Amino acid sequence: MNHIPLDQYDLIDIPDLPHDPPFMLRVTDLKQYLYCPRILYYQTLLPKVRPTTFKMEEGQRQHERIIKNEQRRTLRLYGLPNGERFFNVPLYAPALHLSGEVDMVIQTETELIPVDYKNSKRVNPNHRLQLMAYGYMLAHADPKSDLTVKRGFIYLIPTRKAVEVKFTPSLQKRLENTIQLMYNMVQKQQMPPPTNQIAKCVDCEFRRFCNDVL
Ligand code: SF4
Repeated sequence: MNHIPLDQYDLIDIPDLPHDPPFMLRVTDLKQYLYCPRILYYQTLLPKVRPTTFKMEEGQRQHERIIKNEQRRTLRLYGLPNGERFFNVPLYAPALHLSGEVDMVIQTETELIPVDYKNSKRVNPNHRLQLMAYGYMLAHADPKSDLTVKRGFIYLIPTRKAVEVKFTPSLQKRLENTIQLMYNMVQKQQMPPPTNQIAKCVDCEFRRFCNDVL
């Protein structure tokens, strides 16, 4: 492998966990890591390198449009007779050093239900894991709450469908294991292998650093 030496770039000082202030991962980091672990590696060690792309800005505008439409809809799409909706809810789980902002939370008399909007025609395992992260943070947000967090929904923007995801113990375990792997990678500053789906590299803005692909 012939990587560009990282000391040529603007490295940040990553504190060891769990010292104060703790290094914090976000659900967007989880999303990038699941897409390709190297992206999180570059973003963490070279935070000034990544530009804001048109794709990112358009994604933000699309989310704002969806929220406006959501406010006009009933909750029947989610099979719920009633409930209150909260948008862009910030969340934090100290145990996982994880934070994020979920698109919507529906509160019923007995449940808190996170909803994540995805610009995709179908749900994949990575979507489920990101939703689980929001569910985990919601479940740990208020220890005194008797509202349960046992499921969430992924709203598929192109098909306007809401797909229910149950928060099973195995999904939670997979989340905890993945977060641990992410922290290990960041703390040890070890570059992970490239994605085995080379098609992802074609449009990747970090391709110039990955001399071992394409
Ligand atoms: S170029 Fe490929 S291997 Fe490198 S960060 Fe991008 S997706 Fe990952």
